[in-house]
Amino acid sequence: MFFIGQSTKTGKEVTKDLYYFSENQMLDCNQYLMHDTQNDELILFDAGNGKSLNSLFEGMKKLGFSYENITKIYLTHEHIDHVLGLYPLMEILKNDPPEIFAYTVTAKILQEGKRNKIFPGNLGITPEMFGVDIKPLNVIELTPSDTVNIASNFKFQIFHTPGHSEGSIVYYEPNKKILIPGDLVFIGGSFGRYDFPDGSLKKLTKSIEFVNTLDVKYLLPGHMGISNEGNREIEYSTRMVKSISSYF
Ligand SMILES: [Zn+2]
Repeated sequence: MFFIGQSTKTGKEVTKDLYYFSENQMLDCNQYLMHDTQNDELILFDAGNGKSLNSLFEGMKKLGFSYENITKIYLTHEHIDHVLGLYPLMEILKNDPPEIFAYTVTAKILQEGKRNKIFPGNLGITPEMFGVDIKPLNVIELTPSDTVNIASNFKFQIFHTPGHSEGSIVYYEPNKKILIPGDLVFIGGSFGRYDFPDGSLKKLTKSIEFVNTLDVKYLLPGHMGISNEGNREIEYSTRMVKSISSYF
């Protein structure tokens, strides 16, 4: 099985007020934390799998941050390794719950607690293995016309980028050239799986070709490492996905 260490999820500063916490076990994801220094609030991108929550909190503490100051959580898509952490997190912070934001499709899945979308395909895993009870959550729906403003530091645009899942979006900060692509593209020429029931190689290719038109320095994906040569990495993934698409 794939469980489960409780080692610290070490946080690293990517750029001022933005921190990267790498996944530290199977079926977890990278998480990104932003510090709104004007309001002393913490904004988390993706929730991890829940089992890794303590190690995230430990990592945050080492940087001088308390999980109690998390006020907002933004999701990249609806899959288990990105959303399962919401359930224990909302329980822990129930006296002052953070707001959860996701693209409409993802928001609806979480509002309705649709297990088969959160656990795509036949992965042979259940919420119970993670000690999680999937129940309806309040999620605020994002659309591509929304902007995510974090203090005056970050102004993220949202783009719908299906292919890995129907609810997949990317967050893009054009001034700082930051892209948070979820599981769309990874470093080293990799890209997201498209073989889940809601996946599509054609859509994935189109979505990757789209992000390849953006000016990106910091590429902050949902898995594996990060890069400060974003455009080079995305170009590499674009070539790889197009070479695969050409067989179908
Ligand atoms: Zn995924």
